[in-house]
Amino acid sequence: MVYIKRVELSHFKSFGGTTPIPLLPGFTVVSGPNGSGKSNILDALLFCLGLASSKGMRAERLPDLVNHNHGTHRNTTEASVSVTFDVSEAEENNGNGYHREWTVTRRLRVGKGGNYTSTYYINGELCTVSELHEQLNRFRIYPEGYNVVLQGDVTRIITMNSKERREIIDELAGVAEFDRKIEKTLKT
Ligand code: ATP
Ligand code: MG
Repeated sequence: MVYIKRVELSHFKSFGGTTPIPLLPGFTVVSGPNGSGKSNILDALLFCLGLASSKGMRAERLPDLVNHNHGTHRNTTEASVSVTFDVSEAEENNGNGYHREWTVTRRLRVGKGGNYTSTYYINGELCTVSELHEQLNRFRIYPEGYNVVLQGDVTRIITMNSKERREIIDELAGVAEFDRKIEKTLKT
């Protein structure tokens, strides 16, 4: 099974320094007082893998994701998050464990005026967000998917009508991706 073995947050939201979070396969619980940064870890995952808008990460705009206490006197401030997957059991590896790790990094640089740049890297090499998403499809991780279930999602799903709920099942089953491709092809 492919799983996330490490998340490293650097100046991201409430995480002031560089914080590595090691994860084991299976079920992990993060506990702590209100406002201690538990949900910010999930926001870091969404940020790094390009799965949400700034609102989806509970920020007005991307620059708000940089730790407030980080480098207020500098011309540029920066936040970054790395997510490392253990892919030694990925299907394409045939269990030979040749490529054991696969790391995605996203770096956000904010200038004094509030202008910013955002860059993605796969195993240290620059890539575009669509290249990243293409790779993430291999692990059934989709921006429209429900790989990360946020506070409020559950109540939203309960109150949906059956057509909307069916669309979620299509996403989870991976069918919606083909529907989107068909629609895109028909348009061009
Ligand atoms: P709860 O149990 O209430 O869900 P939580 O542990 O999930 O709490 P988070 O929502 O992860 O808490 O963290 C909220 C905290 O993160 C707030 O104290 C907020 O001030 C802080 N925070 C958010 N963005 C930044 C930022 N850019 N710089 C510094 N702190 C930030
Ligand atoms: Mg929370």
